[in-house]
Amino acid sequence: MYNASSTRYDNMTYNRTGRSGLRLPAISLGLWHNFGGIDTLENGRAMVRRAFDLGITHFDLANNYGPPAGSAEETFGQILRKDFAPYRDELIISTKAGYYMWPGPYGEWGSKKNLVASLDQSLKRMGLDYVDIYYHHRPDPNTPLEETMSALDLIVRQGKALYVGISNYKAEDTRKASQILRQLGTPCLIHQPNYSMLSRWIEDGLQDVLDEEGIGSIVFSPLQKGILTDRYLNGIAADSRAAGPSVFLSEKEITEDVIGKVRKLNELAAERGQKMSQLALSWVLRGGRVTSALIGASKVGQIEDAVASLNAPELSAEELERIEAILRG
Ligand code: NDP
Repeated sequence: MYNASSTRYDNMTYNRTGRSGLRLPAISLGLWHNFGGIDTLENGRAMVRRAFDLGITHFDLANNYGPPAGSAEETFGQILRKDFAPYRDELIISTKAGYYMWPGPYGEWGSKKNLVASLDQSLKRMGLDYVDIYYHHRPDPNTPLEETMSALDLIVRQGKALYVGISNYKAEDTRKASQILRQLGTPCLIHQPNYSMLSRWIEDGLQDVLDEEGIGSIVFSPLQKGILTDRYLNGIAADSRAAGPSVFLSEKEITEDVIGKVRKLNELAAERGQKMSQLALSWVLRGGRVTSALIGASKVGQIEDAVASLNAPELSAEELERIEAILRG
């Protein structure tokens, strides 16, 4: 029997999401890796419990997370049933559709058919009546944006999602999507792009659009899938993502050049009394432009590290300049 910690709201920071009424934790947990059918349910369960005990109220999923695709939602559904039945109203649960999920012309991209059918499947897998946030997962060059956005609007009106968002959309498409959604009466709550010290495309226009349109941002892979941690400082750790079966991080990405920079960043982190991963989170959250940093984890301790990063002092102008110099190489 799980009883959530009575101190769960004492130390987390909650940031307003764009110009909405919804506040999200500064650290959110994604279930892309380590919650699939190939993983251990009890480890996933321990991570979700610990996250919630530390004030992480937001859990991010997608139809295709696993492997196999769909199994992360099933795992999360089991955890919800076993442990979180009394806490549904304290949770913000998101899912997405857009990437390949089932064969044929309706199993991916951005048609109304795909978005509506996929959400119905996700709700069944998780055992939920509604999700809090539903995303279109990637832009679809062949479907009119009006159709995709009207599908999101329809889903909110049907009560299957409370809010909607978009993911991986570039600046100009984001502006268009936001304008269409506003006209429909369902404002775009949030954008989910990737962002880290090693992946900075959102600084080139997207963040300005988000500010102008009043859209929040939750940034995925802020640790660059584990590269911006101590995992690879001395070779490829045997239990790391790069060493495991994931096709999304290969040993080829762990180059000497990148790790050379991470070593220097790690020294700067140590001067601040932080771990490398904690510096990477302080950096994406600097200045308050990002609503939430969306981490992944394979161990409970990694979630504890992430939440503890919120206690660190703001990065100074001098530290930020040193980071830029290291990244320039
Ligand atoms: P991160 O960049 O946070 O990488 C997480 C990985 O970093 C962990 O699995 C772990 O790897 C390692 N790590 C985390 N904390 C520590 C620590 N304290 N010390 C050492 N290593 C650590 O994010 P992800 O790439 O996992 O993505 C996060 C979430 O973002 C996903 O779950 C998903 O919800 C979302 N996402 C969305 C996408 C989209 O298109 N919208 C695409 C990708 C992700 P290890 O396994 O090696 O221990």
